[in-house]
Amino acid sequence: MSTSLLYHAFGVRGSRLLRTVLLNGEVLFEIEEQRDRLECSCCGSSDVIRRGTVTRFFRSVGIGSKPVTISCPIQRVECRECEVVRQVKARFADPKRTYSRSFEPYAKEHCRTLPSRRLSSRT
Ligand SMILES: [Zn+2]
Repeated sequence: MSTSLLYHAFGVRGSRLLRTVLLNGEVLFEIEEQRDRLECSCCGSSDVIRRGTVTRFFRSVGIGSKPVTISCPIQRVECRECEVVRQVKARFADPKRTYSRSFEPYAKEHCRTLPSRRLSSRT
């Protein structure tokens, strides 16, 4: 898959697709973000020290009936300004989210079409 398709179909830009895996009916894209510089996700400073990576998994828009997950190693950095160790921001997902930005409108639309549940009252 090209980087252009990753961007236009899944909102993932500035990344390279390493591998596509079809496992238990799900599609897994293993990607690697390409960065020229790293920034602290807390204060934005570029005065940071690399402190390893953590592989994170993000739900994304499905392909047909197959769910899609994007896995990506996220760089951890120690900031010399605010003295915290944090993950840098993923370009395609908001902080502390387990889904991509492209998935959010899809999920909202899907939830809107679900029948609402009635809550029972005990009065
Ligand atoms: Zn900082």
